[in-house]
Amino acid sequence: MDLEGKKSLVLGAGKSGVASAEFLAERGAVVALHDKKPIESWSGAAKALKERKVGLIDGNLPSWLLDQIDLVVISPGVPTNSIPARYVDRKDGEVIGEVELAYRFTKGRIVGITGSNGKTTTTTLIGELLKSSGIETRIGGNIGTPLISLAESSSENGWTVCELSSFQLETIKEFRPTVGICLNVTPNHLDRYDFFSDYAAAKHRLFMNQTADDVAILNADDEITASWASGLKANVVLFSVKKELEEGLFLRGRDLVCRANGKEKVLTTREEIFLRGLHNVENVLAAFAAGLACGASPDSMRETVRNFKGVEHRIEFVAEIDNVRFYNDSKATSVDATLKALEALSEGDGKTVLILGGRGKNAPYAPLIPLIEKSVRALVLIGEDAENIESQLKDHAEISLADSMEDAVKKGFAAAESGDAILLAPACASFDMFQSFEERGAVFKESVLRLNGKASRGAQN
Ligand code: ADP
Repeated sequence: MDLEGKKSLVLGAGKSGVASAEFLAERGAVVALHDKKPIESWSGAAKALKERKVGLIDGNLPSWLLDQIDLVVISPGVPTNSIPARYVDRKDGEVIGEVELAYRFTKGRIVGITGSNGKTTTTTLIGELLKSSGIETRIGGNIGTPLISLAESSSENGWTVCELSSFQLETIKEFRPTVGICLNVTPNHLDRYDFFSDYAAAKHRLFMNQTADDVAILNADDEITASWASGLKANVVLFSVKKELEEGLFLRGRDLVCRANGKEKVLTTREEIFLRGLHNVENVLAAFAAGLACGASPDSMRETVRNFKGVEHRIEFVAEIDNVRFYNDSKATSVDATLKALEALSEGDGKTVLILGGRGKNAPYAPLIPLIEKSVRALVLIGEDAENIESQLKDHAEISLADSMEDAVKKGFAAAESGDAILLAPACASFDMFQSFEERGAVFKESVLRLNGKASRGAQN
């Protein structure tokens, strides 16, 4: 793809839009960057593109502009229907996403990871597995570093491991991962999709350009991904935590087993996995499948899995104080994710003190009740939705209300008994009290560390 002199328009002035505009300008394209938000509110990096002769446009797109453009690059946050179909189909113009642009300039092979849950954990783990097997590896995509920023440094012998959201997959055309993984497809983002089938179809696009030389890794326990297995061109590798498979990777008792061509190998055991919960066994199985497809050595992968402590804010172990363990799952912004975290901790001996609340998403909290009754010692509620949560759960647990994260940590600790866990898994967005779920998790961790030595259990302070 020759970008020299190409008249390009990048839609969305976030991280990936800025990286795309930079990339295009670097390669001699004539670039404009657009975002609906006023330019004053753009990031410093976005505004600085002006010095690199990138035109900055805010508000509505001028009516004449699209007719002049050869290439439109859409950021994942921008709805695809913001470009009228008549421009998308023009013979002399092209509309693609940042991932597609990156693909066309990325050397070497690609592992693409998608799914409703577990993408970041699995992507990070696969990156570690490949690196520790001596494979040249880059990690990017939805996880943080835009793929386009990695294109320049990619090499023919290397692998790019990328996390892909359904939004990113909507705007690919030729993108073809040598190894594609879909972890699961559960109702998510139904604010952006009218139908669940539409959302699932966006995820399925990951596999659309694969050939018989490629590998597709699918969750055999997930109804949607399992249904894709027979229709793909790629070699399908299935994984399961619920049943033994004739071929594929599965959990048998405590062993994670790979069975291929009639031969079996134990890859690792649950005791050796630091990450909590059965959902993380799924992530580990998928990651092993990817590592094997990329030629990583099973023994070195086993060692890496043993040392993998997970990703920040995902059931992250913070500290143990007075025989009480603290976990930060600030990323649990939905009831479903909170359920997973509670389930994961309920495998231990003690009970859980759960810190819940924040900006609610109008979803009922009732699905938590069975696990609350089974494994929760007390609930500590924070944020805007605290009273609503209290009204839904008051008959099922001891509840206290806290007016800050620090207060919640203190109240949680006071309610805990020796051997218990204290879990921040709020089932809500963070924006009522914090900038982001990352900030919420960081404040939780600071509060826990401040608690160390200053408070004691059973003392209501
Ligand atoms: P994503 O990047 O897809 O949002 P993460 O790896 O960041 O996924 O995990 C987010 C949350 O999703 C975790 O805290 C956990 O509660 C849940 N989760 C992780 N892996 C899985 C999985 N395989 N299946 C279901 N839920 C999962």
